[in-house]
Amino acid sequence: MAREDHQPVLGSPRRPDRTPDDMRRMCGRSIAFVLALGHEPGDIGQAIFTARKSRVAAAYVFAKPAFAPQALEEVRLSGKKGETMVQAVELDPAAVIELTRQGGDFELFSQLPYGLLETMRVLAETSLDDYDNVIVLDAMQDRITPDHVYELVADAREHPDAEVVVSWIQQLRRMPCVLTRAFLGRLEARDAALLGDGTGAPHGVTRLRVRDHVFGEEKLAASATVPKAVEGFLGSCTLSALQAVRRVRQAKAHVEEEPQSLGQAHLLNDADALLVKTASETVAATDDLPPDEMAELAWADEFGRRNKQDFPLLNDPVHAGTLAYLDSAATAQRVDKALHAQHEWDVHANANVYRGAYELSVQATAAFGDARTRLEGFIGADCGQVAYTANTTDGLNLVAQAWGEHNIDAGDLIVCELAAHHANLLPFMMLAQRKGARLEYIPYDGAGRVDHDAYAGLLAQSPKLVCLAQVGNVFGVQAPIKQMAAAAHEAGARVVVDAAQSFPHMRIDVKDLGADWVAFSAHKAYGPMGIGALWISPEAFDEMDPLGGGGGVVSHVSTDSYYLRPQALQYEMGTPPVSQAIGWATALDYLDALGMENIARHDAVLTRYAARGLQRIDGVNVIGDHGQPDGQMGIVAFTVRSTAPADVAKFLGGLDVAIRSGGHCALPLHASLGLIGTGRLSIGVYTTRDDIDAALAAVALCRQLHER
Ligand code: PMP
Repeated sequence: MAREDHQPVLGSPRRPDRTPDDMRRMCGRSIAFVLALGHEPGDIGQAIFTARKSRVAAAYVFAKPAFAPQALEEVRLSGKKGETMVQAVELDPAAVIELTRQGGDFELFSQLPYGLLETMRVLAETSLDDYDNVIVLDAMQDRITPDHVYELVADAREHPDAEVVVSWIQQLRRMPCVLTRAFLGRLEARDAALLGDGTGAPHGVTRLRVRDHVFGEEKLAASATVPKAVEGFLGSCTLSALQAVRRVRQAKAHVEEEPQSLGQAHLLNDADALLVKTASETVAATDDLPPDEMAELAWADEFGRRNKQDFPLLNDPVHAGTLAYLDSAATAQRVDKALHAQHEWDVHANANVYRGAYELSVQATAAFGDARTRLEGFIGADCGQVAYTANTTDGLNLVAQAWGEHNIDAGDLIVCELAAHHANLLPFMMLAQRKGARLEYIPYDGAGRVDHDAYAGLLAQSPKLVCLAQVGNVFGVQAPIKQMAAAAHEAGARVVVDAAQSFPHMRIDVKDLGADWVAFSAHKAYGPMGIGALWISPEAFDEMDPLGGGGGVVSHVSTDSYYLRPQALQYEMGTPPVSQAIGWATALDYLDALGMENIARHDAVLTRYAARGLQRIDGVNVIGDHGQPDGQMGIVAFTVRSTAPADVAKFLGGLDVAIRSGGHCALPLHASLGLIGTGRLSIGVYTTRDDIDAALAAVALCRQLHER
């Protein structure tokens, strides 16, 4: 089969000629086994969706214990609609561990390292007479569509002698497969050869590999494994990684010449002692820096330490001194002043804005206007150029709809980044699909920087729209937006900038940047969730139309006409998020008080420190280049050899180190890297050296335990 046939294509994978009845006829006498063994919940949801859409009779979602709650939640969310019965099955940990040990060696079933024994058990307990075959889907195969399932089952029908029909997804080294009636027949007969040698590895199965679904290069960074040592360790460890690091530091400070005492190490249980030992090694390794770096680190640490006091969650009795919060790129913690300002307004000043003549409403309107002015001032915008949105994603969708709908035609070119967050890709991919426009991607180089030659080549094709991120959420590298925007304008394109990850780390002057739209969110910069902003240039504004009508959009309406508000406010339909705007403005004041240049310096020092520390751990691979200032924007993504990112994050979570894992809404990027996902630590103004050391110690320990 030609490779192109199964490349994800621009356009819907749905086939209009394949009706639910077709699916039912083909797949209705099948059950699906969904192996949900350590992935993002969305993957599990996607696999359940595929099973349902395929119209199979039943789907069992297998989850190892650590992921069982997510699997259950996904099953719950998938609802009771439709004819497919969906059920979560928690895998027996003993079987998981046993199969993990064996996993990967099976020639045929390497795609089922955990699932096979449990598959067998459930198969053995299920009345197979009702089914023609079993479809095995790994939730990691989130790109398997109902069409793939349909084709697999069709292949199985065409080849009644085959016992297993396999579809090879090279990139993921996983195979969706169909266990056919012939296979099930043997299973029912308790065929000794089939059940194998007790390890779950079947022998002598007639295999038929019919399809090559090739999505990319085989460069798998991880297979989800949870060795016994890890489960045992987490079961008995009582310290958090941050506590262990702090113990080590205290011991070093007090007994410089005798650090091994580590504050009565003999009183610790084995797991805690191991954690403290690893923390001690981490601290020793990271102490080994040149004096000027050490001085910078000490400055950054002190900055973070002072700022930490301003964040209630990090100081509450549950988290203070135990939690190393390293997920600020997903959502930053909220600063006390912003929380307070919002709360005060909610409790003492709540009223709707604009059209009230009574005191509370007049004051609410004034407070909202003042918040907007502070935001405009913060980014160097003129009055009326900023629309409040729900978040960055909302702002980018606004561009696609309010501008794209009226300015993109069939055949036009839209340029996005291969490394884009889905928020800065999907609105424009969907727009391209609606309009019949072309979508091309800007590639990146090995260090995670935009490939400028390729960019120039794309601009030479006169795109209508260029979509850029100022800082990517995986590589964490800052792009030279000013030059890129100028070049795009030169080529006649409009430029939209996703500033979600730059806004918290650097001063943005929208006019200096020279783009047409800049979108960002409050919650990544110590403000509330539920509010973001879109800055709109006057030139772009003139080419846009409102998304819809309602209060806020117009200044006057008669029975047959209306006058739009002349500013970006016309995109704020209905009651705006007043209390959030006030909280956000206060968070901006906080950033101003800290000084964006100090924030940038702090974040750069700790990014460099974290990346270097991670790279030093055997088996850890840091994504992108953090050696240069443009790569020191508070984000470090990494992989850990033979451990799935979700398992790394779960392990770190067990030690109170909060990092993110998975595709980070940048699946095309991960696919291009041949990765199923990455772990990602990210830095906020409250991050200290101890937080980073806690993460480094936890990752080092994760490696050690997986190697055992
Ligand atoms: N773009 C980038 C680069 C991001 O990192 C994120 C947040 N993950 C977004 C867009 C979307 O932000 P929000 O969820 O606030 O809309």
